[in-house]
Amino acid sequence: MTLFEKIIARQIPADIVYEDADTIAFRDISPRAPVHVLVCPKKAIPKLSDSDDGDTETLGKLLRSVARVALAAGLTDYRVIINNGAGAGQSVFHLHLHLMGGRTLTWPPG
Ligand code: AMP
Repeated sequence: MTLFEKIIARQIPADIVYEDADTIAFRDISPRAPVHVLVCPKKAIPKLSDSDDGDTETLGKLLRSVARVALAAGLTDYRVIINNGAGAGQSVFHLHLHLMGGRTLTWPPG
């Protein structure tokens, strides 16, 4: 079971800011911006590249959850990041979207 599955199952604590039937959002334990929230599907998809056409609705719901959390946080300008694979910085192998905002974000990210 991955760390994020344990958060979804309430086996380990997290600062959960939004949850619905298919998605959950909680604050990153090591925030890189004033608002840094991770939005995950409840379904255990390890990486975006492991998703398939059956996950299309779930993937859409993830983006809607990001927009809801951003709105609730009062963000108008923000960034949404998916690290796909260790070489791209992925360290937890349960799909998650990083929502980051609350400061000026430079481009490109490192
Ligand atoms: P990634 O590197 O894209 O896989 O992102 C994983 C993120 O999970 C990192 O930004 C970590 O800071 C964050 N993280 C690790 N453990 C926890 C935890 N227990 N609760 C919340 N966020 C966590």
